[in-house]
Amino acid sequence: MKILIIEDEPKTGDYLKQGLTESGFVTELAVNGVDGLHLALTGDFDLLVLDVMLPGLSGWQVLERLRQSGKEMPVLFLTARDEVEDRVHGLELGADDYLVKPFAFSELLARVRTLLRRGKSALEASVLRAADLELDLMRRRVTRAGSRIELTAKEFALLELLLRRQGEVLPRSMIASQVWDMNFDSDTNVIEVAIRRLRAKVDDPFEPKLIRTARGMGYVLEVPDHP
Ligand code: CA
Repeated sequence: MKILIIEDEPKTGDYLKQGLTESGFVTELAVNGVDGLHLALTGDFDLLVLDVMLPGLSGWQVLERLRQSGKEMPVLFLTARDEVEDRVHGLELGADDYLVKPFAFSELLARVRTLLRRGKSALEASVLRAADLELDLMRRRVTRAGSRIELTAKEFALLELLLRRQGEVLPRSMIASQVWDMNFDSDTNVIEVAIRRLRAKVDDPFEPKLIRTARGMGYVLEVPDHP
């Protein structure tokens, strides 16, 4: 298990690095936001321990860019300010847990272990994939080639259905009833418009194309054998 620590105070940074290393983790320490973000984006870490007050980029900015890039590693942030607002802000930005300084190392270790356990079991079970397209049910996030894609609630539901039934041609009537809760006789143009918008986001800028129209029948999502 690899942990990245981003902390500018030498005492705290060394203390964390030493403690986590002694607890059996592989650790790396960055002492400012810019280096930390670079490592987080390029390295293969299982967890990030992130200080909020950092030179270069703040912990918030690091977290925001990390999540925008589609990186899903759990983040535990460290804040010196015991303010509710601060904590809410961190969790809204996609942090998974926080600790208020000063903290006991045993408490940090307990949080780290919980996050790593949760990360493995929950994430793996809730991610649907096709080629480099990923839909994360728990976090309600879609990424392709590692980049985050913003979908409306209906587009998300439509993509989820297509991914769950990967390789099957789904008739428009079936999509209408499952995603829109409406009958086939209703306005089926809605489905065509939604498919077009979904394609524009998840297929047009990428290769291979995954959503195919089965003429006169419906739609299918599948990874082509020969693109
Ligand atoms: Ca600091």
